[in-house]
Amino acid sequence: KESIMDGVNYEDEMPSENPDDSIAKTVLHKLQEERKTLPIYPYREQLLQAVQDHQVLVIVGETGSGKTTQIPQYLHEAGYTKRGQGFGHASTPTAACILASNAALVLGRKALEWRLLEMNIECQLFLVGCTQPRRVAAMSVAARVSQEMGVKLGHEVGYSIRFEDCTSEKTIMKYMTDGMLLREFLSEPDLASYSVIMVDEAHERTLSTDILFGLVKDISRFRKDLKLLISSATLDAEKFSDYFDSAPIFKIPGRRYPVEIHFTTAPEADYIDAAIVTVLQIHVTQPPGDILVFLTGQEEIETIDEILKHRTRGLGTKIAELIICPIYANLPTELQAKIFEPTPEGARKVVLATNIAETSLTIDGIKYVVDPGFCKIKSFNPRTGMESLLVNPISKASAMQRAGRSGRTGPGKCFRLYTAYNFQNDLDDNAVPEIQRTNLANVVLTLKSLGINDLVNFDFMDPPPSEALLKALEQLYALNALNSRGELTKTGRRMAEFPLDPMLSKMIVASEKYKCSEEVISISSMLSVGNSIFYRPKDKQVHADNARMNFHTGNVGDHIALLNVYNSWKETNYSTQWCYENYIQVRSMKRARDIRDQLEGLLERVEIEPTSNLSDLDAVKKAITSGFFHHSAKLQKTGAYKTVKNPQTVYIHPSSGLAEASFSFITIFCCVLPRWVIYHELVLTTKEYMRQVTELKPEWLIEIAPHFYQLKDVEDAAATKKLPRGKGRAAE
Ligand code: ADP
Ligand code: MG
Repeated sequence: KESIMDGVNYEDEMPSENPDDSIAKTVLHKLQEERKTLPIYPYREQLLQAVQDHQVLVIVGETGSGKTTQIPQYLHEAGYTKRGQGFGHASTPTAACILASNAALVLGRKALEWRLLEMNIECQLFLVGCTQPRRVAAMSVAARVSQEMGVKLGHEVGYSIRFEDCTSEKTIMKYMTDGMLLREFLSEPDLASYSVIMVDEAHERTLSTDILFGLVKDISRFRKDLKLLISSATLDAEKFSDYFDSAPIFKIPGRRYPVEIHFTTAPEADYIDAAIVTVLQIHVTQPPGDILVFLTGQEEIETIDEILKHRTRGLGTKIAELIICPIYANLPTELQAKIFEPTPEGARKVVLATNIAETSLTIDGIKYVVDPGFCKIKSFNPRTGMESLLVNPISKASAMQRAGRSGRTGPGKCFRLYTAYNFQNDLDDNAVPEIQRTNLANVVLTLKSLGINDLVNFDFMDPPPSEALLKALEQLYALNALNSRGELTKTGRRMAEFPLDPMLSKMIVASEKYKCSEEVISISSMLSVGNSIFYRPKDKQVHADNARMNFHTGNVGDHIALLNVYNSWKETNYSTQWCYENYIQVRSMKRARDIRDQLEGLLERVEIEPTSNLSDLDAVKKAITSGFFHHSAKLQKTGAYKTVKNPQTVYIHPSSGLAEASFSFITIFCCVLPRWVIYHELVLTTKEYMRQVTELKPEWLIEIAPHFYQLKDVEDAAATKKLPRGKGRAAE
């Protein structure tokens, strides 16, 4: 026993005695006490026993019962994060094991493994992995668990989300997005570093979760030591159990107080306005208790945030303070923590959240829920291959979950901004799993790289429509990621290294040919940040628009404008001041820089030289076209565009620099708007809009994708220009 700790010098690591220590100890003690009040706590032993007895366990428990934060800790405490001679992690932990795990906290995992190896003691530490569909949830839960354990985030407890790995050699509990675990299969197909995988929020049925089901089920057959926990907030767990060969279901009885549900008497024409009015009414007329409002996205949340701030200013001092806390995926980390801060006495908190607060995050103190009944979902038309984000009514199951959030700590009230008739007749019982309504190209590429070729017979819980699978194969073939036999090509193998959509990764791989990899990875990182580069304060819209248009000089298109922004910022040595002056979000830029650094590393991995070709923007645009040729559109006489392959009417998004040009010359817009464009994505709001648009020469389509476009597709261009005739597949 002694020998393990012998020679371990942990003096430097031990904090010296100082007054902060006692405060830290008190906080830790309080958190430890709080852990014992969670509904899951009384079931701790039973749960650990069940995990020991069964390889796969389905766990069901109401949101907030402690599944996500507690189960990985219980498993760690019970010894699942270490393996050693003679005492498999599933057996009762021995003293040596406990000692090993404590030493790991001081030494770090690898260092300890190495020490033990030196002493001929075979003991390695295992990871407990827990997947989350949303990155905010992975980060926030990891932060909470590290606090509860009194360790630094990123050390023993860490998280891993796309483009951000906050783990270290010491990490034994890892929260990650389901997409990240999927990618880990590429480097470690048997997940050998893990002793337990907890697929959390299984009811969400995201695409990655559904694929993970098939993969973990498969490896559990030959890795008998791997424990699988499938946890979900909904009660219909039978389906999960059936899928995992009748795995037992462990139910954690929730504590739930009654929730009073109110419907509107007539449908609301404007749910944003209705939500604001409802929040204010609750604030003015109802007893203390926080409010949770479910909205569809960042823009909506920001709008309501602003209006609420404005309206509460006029309420006078008699009314309590209303603290507004937004929460959505792109919210900066510092602000995310704000939603969990206790509301000060006499004030009321209103949390404006996306679906993330439905089951992923539990906010204590919520007494009132406002549910407009919508969420944003990705929808995909397998016939046309077109994907679009749109606002959709939620399911009945979602509505029940949302209402439940108000009854966690006492009786609650839920205000639904739709009628009881709507609820009964217009809402589906359950949401359609993502796998049945999304583009599968990315997943198909990942599976192919894992050597899973027979996709039709993959063990799907709910198979995707065969049309969608076919479309994905077609798309990957067109991108030259697969050959005509459906096998991965060299290009495809390189593409799979990038954690990006195939069209983006293809554009990067193609940049080698056009000698502009530097530019293309800058553009890819800016596109990956999302639509939060520019900001446009209400009172300074003209200034902001002018600043933005500076990057569009020469009508270069949105992709090149993003490149200009990135390069200009780099020239100022990444100046924050410069961002302020140009109405650019510093945070988004820093994120773009981080992403770019990672893409640079991946370029090296796939052996693409970093080359710059700034003097030839057409080369950059051709690389973009190599990835995005599916997304081409042609101007119509009406001023609208038509997509070239599956004709559909689309418009340039108002935020595009090209749209700006058309507004300033509204009368002659047809002359100003480019005849042919390529776009990054479609979004459906009032119209079907193309976001991030760049002008294109139609002959490029034939040159770059001769197997996808024929002369007739770009015919009217052919009348004026001589086009090279496509001969088979373009050389890559
Ligand atoms: P479940 O996964 O069953 O929904 P959780 O483990 O997420 O439950 O939550 C258990 C408790 O931990 C809840 O009371 C919740 O409020 C609290 N909690 C979770 N994350 C945080 C956080 N980041 N900050 C403060 N409290 C948190
Ligand atoms: Mg949870």
